[in-house]
Amino acid sequence: MKIMKSFTHWRASLATVFLTGGMLCVVQVMVDRPMLLVERFFPGFGWLEIIALALYAGFMTPKIMNPATSVRWRTILWLTFSILFFGQLFLGLLGLENFLMSGRLHLPIPALIIAGPVFRGENYFMPILFSATLLFIGPAWCSYFCYLGGWDFLASKHQKYSKPMPGWRHLIRAGVLFLVIATALFFRKNESPVLFVLWFAALYGLGGLVVMFVFSRRQGVMVHCSTYCPVGLVANIFGKVSPFRIRINDSCSGCHRCIKVCRYDALKPDDISRGRPGLSCTLCGDCTGTCNTSSINYSFPGLSGRMARTLFVVIVVSFHAVSIGVARI
Ligand code: SF4
Ligand code: SF4
Ligand code: SF4
Repeated sequence: MKIMKSFTHWRASLATVFLTGGMLCVVQVMVDRPMLLVERFFPGFGWLEIIALALYAGFMTPKIMNPATSVRWRTILWLTFSILFFGQLFLGLLGLENFLMSGRLHLPIPALIIAGPVFRGENYFMPILFSATLLFIGPAWCSYFCYLGGWDFLASKHQKYSKPMPGWRHLIRAGVLFLVIATALFFRKNESPVLFVLWFAALYGLGGLVVMFVFSRRQGVMVHCSTYCPVGLVANIFGKVSPFRIRINDSCSGCHRCIKVCRYDALKPDDISRGRPGLSCTLCGDCTGTCNTSSINYSFPGLSGRMARTLFVVIVVSFHAVSIGVARI
């Protein structure tokens, strides 16, 4: 059994190395302005960065595949991305424009993925990128990729276990999404000055930090991500296009241990009885490591739970490693 497990991990690592390397090679060859940092500073040496990122992805794969270690390594992986992302933004602010995506600055607020194009009526790069991740890995944008969500996760870990959220948070969440889109449309229709709109967006972003610091820490739940940020709801709804799901099988003893570790408020006793988490599940996988009977796991049509998890991790870790190489603001 142990040998089989190591073999599966080894094959998955290899798959991640090739998938990551393949995607980065396409970026290196096809995109005119170099995307990889090493290529930007030392033309011709971007290939070394591709090799390093592919090996990093291969190293991370078994750590995330193992339910017992995945929470720890997902945290490391997610925050690593965020620190690199904000580190590059900081260097960009200092005037080193090689650390910026296009040489122009944008506000690092996830809500602008939706509100930005609605306001400008152009520049759909981020919505397209976001939609592509939804297609492949569903709402896992909000548990592996978002540069801000990792900090909400960290804030929620201030409490050992999550506390239940009131049912009306779903109404607030839908209301915030509506207001963000309506406000962007209002600003666009009235041709509001860009500087005023930027200040408005910055204040909204600061409000999010307050929500994290006050409410997520107190509740042990990612209140910012599951209530305040509109992108989370969009990811949850449209993430259903991906076939990956979390499912609870009949061997569940109803111990409810998994409920306490879900930081997205996606598991309630009713959800356990129904055999699936609620809408706000982001496929983070943290619940799978707490179940003594292995009753809760990833699912994918036609695959066993173990294979579904393997496939999910190979895709998610490869996308993560590619993001480290190319995602910046
Ligand atoms: S809900 Fe918003 S802030 Fe949270 S992880 Fe998703 S996009 Fe990021
Ligand atoms: S931890 Fe496992 S056994 Fe306990 S409620 Fe959750 S799925 Fe069921
Ligand atoms: S139900 Fe499990 S996989 Fe879904 S968000 Fe909660 S802990 Fe993560």
